[in-house]
Order: sequence, then C-alpha cells, then structure tokens
Amino acid sequence: MAKKAKKRALKKKTASRRPRQAPKMLSDLFLATLKDIYFAENKIIKTLPKMAKAAHSKDLAAAFNKHLRETQGQVRRLEQIFKMLNKPARGKPCEAINGITEEGAEIMKDFKNAPALDAGLLAAAQAVEHYEISRYGTLRTWAEELGMPEAARLLQETLDEEEATDHTLTELATSVINLEAEAEYREAA
Ligand code: FE
Ligand code: FE
Ligand code: FE
Repeated sequence: MAKKAKKRALKKKTASRRPRQAPKMLSDLFLATLKDIYFAENKIIKTLPKMAKAAHSKDLAAAFNKHLRETQGQVRRLEQIFKMLNKPARGKPCEAINGITEEGAEIMKDFKNAPALDAGLLAAAQAVEHYEISRYGTLRTWAEELGMPEAARLLQETLDEEEATDHTLTELATSVINLEAEAEYREAA
C-alpha cells in the first residue's frame, strides 16, 4: 500500500473509533466568548483599583474609579446572560487580557514616579477598552443572530459604557495628561 493511502486508512480507522461529538455551533462559540469576557471583566475589577492608586492626575484616578463601578455592573449583566442560557457563570482564562494587563503592570513599575506615568496608564487602559469593545460588538451581533434580543440589549448597554470610557480616556489624554507630561519633562530638562 502506498504511504499516503496507508495514512488515509489509519486516519479513517481512528476517526471511527472516536466518540461522536456534536458539531460546534454558533451557540457554543457564544458561550465560550461569554466565558472569555467574564474572565476579562473580573480581571479588570482587580486591576482598576491599582491603576487608580498609581495615577498622578485626579481626573484620571476618578475616571478609573467610575469605570470600576461600571465594570461591576457589567459583570452582573454577563451573569444575567449566563442565566438565560441556563449555564453557570464561569470564566475561561483569556490570555489577551492577561497580556494587556501585564503590559500595564510593567508600565506602572518602569514609570513609577515618572512624568509620563499617566500617559502610560491611559494607553494601557485604552488597550483594555479596545479589547472589550471588540468582544462586546461580536457578542451583541451573535446574540441577535441567535435570537436573543434581551441578551443583545444587555451587551449593547455594556458596549456603550466601554465606548464612552474610551472617549473619556481620549479626552483626558489630549487635554491633560500628555501636556502635563510634556511640561514636566521640559521643566526637568
Ligand atoms: Fe468592561
Ligand atoms: Fe480573550
Ligand atoms: Fe471597560
């Protein structure tokens, strides 16, 4: 038997021995992604107080604290959606948010007491918001496709909060933080 044919025959044999698995559907992907963002939101709840504490600008610290309270509500929305699916609210480790928050921690360490610290914190926070915006946009669309209008509405509410936070951070970045960092840099020079 030719090598290729042998391989194919072997593949067929092992495939038939494997237990039959239900094909993964959009609903499975929806649940998996819900677990991903549930993990991410809980990670963010642990991270935001550290960022608020580190921030030099009072406005920036206030923005972080405000978003911490919003994030707690976002976790409750996700729990409502798990309930609609009759599934336990459970997170699945998200390496993306682990990486993004790891970068933020690095900035806090490397730029401790530095004039550019707040600019770095802002950049880290915006990376988090952008990840969330991408996830919630996807989940909202999938909820609509799966015929779950109430879940879609909850996901849209959170998406609106993430986008508003992103805009607040952009305003802080352009109006306060970057100028502040630059002025301090010039003073030091
Ligand atoms: Fe969030
Ligand atoms: Fe993820
Ligand atoms: Fe957020």
